[in-house]
Amino acid sequence: MNDTPFWKNKTLTEMSTPEWESLCDGCGLCCLNKIEEWDSGDVYFTSIRCKLMDGESCRCTSYPNRWDFVPDCVQLTPEKVPELEWLPPTCAYRLVNEGRDLYWWHPLISGDPETVHLARVSARGRTVSENDVDLDDFEDYIVDWPLTVEDDMEANPPAKS
Ligand code: SF4
Ligand code: SF4
Repeated sequence: MNDTPFWKNKTLTEMSTPEWESLCDGCGLCCLNKIEEWDSGDVYFTSIRCKLMDGESCRCTSYPNRWDFVPDCVQLTPEKVPELEWLPPTCAYRLVNEGRDLYWWHPLISGDPETVHLARVSARGRTVSENDVDLDDFEDYIVDWPLTVEDDMEANPPAKS
């Protein structure tokens, strides 16, 4: 019997739909608004969350019919994962695509959806809703922590409970 977990012995393309969905760690980082510089194409994260994202659970409040409200919500697919350079370094899809393992705080490892928040890898408690920010002010909310949570975590590892 093969006890190797599916994310170690399957590619993203080979995963079943339930496996694919369970791979999301619930960090919410991909649901933050990003600003793309028109001339360089560089992408910057902001701490402004999508209007459908819950700031505490970091989950989409209308996932099944999200496109009715957010038509440009990006659907992650195995084909898109390698192309989306802005996917955070801790994103499980990115890790698996790069042949890396999941961290201890991933719910598939810990068995607890809270550990992604306890490890301070998620967006919990540090975002504002796009409903509360004027579009002209978005640049004032540019942050780099969605891209550095991995370094922060390694420099200052939280105690496992
Ligand atoms: S960044 Fe990746 S792991 Fe985190 S919520 Fe988005 S898809 Fe899921
Ligand atoms: S619609 Fe939902 S899944 Fe899409 S970016 Fe917004 S919160 Fe995230």
